[in-house]
Amino acid sequence: MDTPTPTPAELEQHLRSLAGALTGPRDAECVLCYVDRMLDAFGCDGTLRWAGRWRDLRLPRAAGLERRLASRGGCCDCEVFLNGWTYRDDLQAVGEDGEPDWPAVHPSCAGVGPRSAQPCANWVPLRGARW
Ligand SMILES: [Zn+2]
Ligand SMILES: [Zn+2]
Repeated sequence: MDTPTPTPAELEQHLRSLAGALTGPRDAECVLCYVDRMLDAFGCDGTLRWAGRWRDLRLPRAAGLERRLASRGGCCDCEVFLNGWTYRDDLQAVGEDGEPDWPAVHPSCAGVGPRSAQPCANWVPLRGARW
C-alpha cells in the first residue's frame, strides 16, 4: 500500500505545528524564561513581541502584561532583562570581571501555574523593582 502524498495544505499544517513547537512556550514555562529563550534564538526586534506571543498563547486575558513589563523599563524584550529582572544570585555565574554574570547555560524554568503571568522562582527584580 502506497503512503498517500500529503497535500500542500497538510504540509503547511505540519510546518506550522513545527514552527509552533519551536517558538511556543513550553508547558508551565514562565514569561521571562520564554522571552529569554526566544531572545537567545531569534533576538530582539525592538518590541515586546516574545512577551506578547507568550501572552497570546498562554494567557490571552493577561492584557496588562506589556504594561507591567514596560513599567519596569522593559519596553522591548531585551530591556526586560537589562532593566527589569535577572537570575537570582545562586543561579548567577561569575564573570571575567568578578561580577555576577549570567550562566552560559541558562537554567530551565522553575515553572508557573497555568494562570500565572508572574516570573518563576529563577528571577528576581533588579534594583528592588517589584512585579
Ligand atoms: Zn530590545
Ligand atoms: Zn521561568
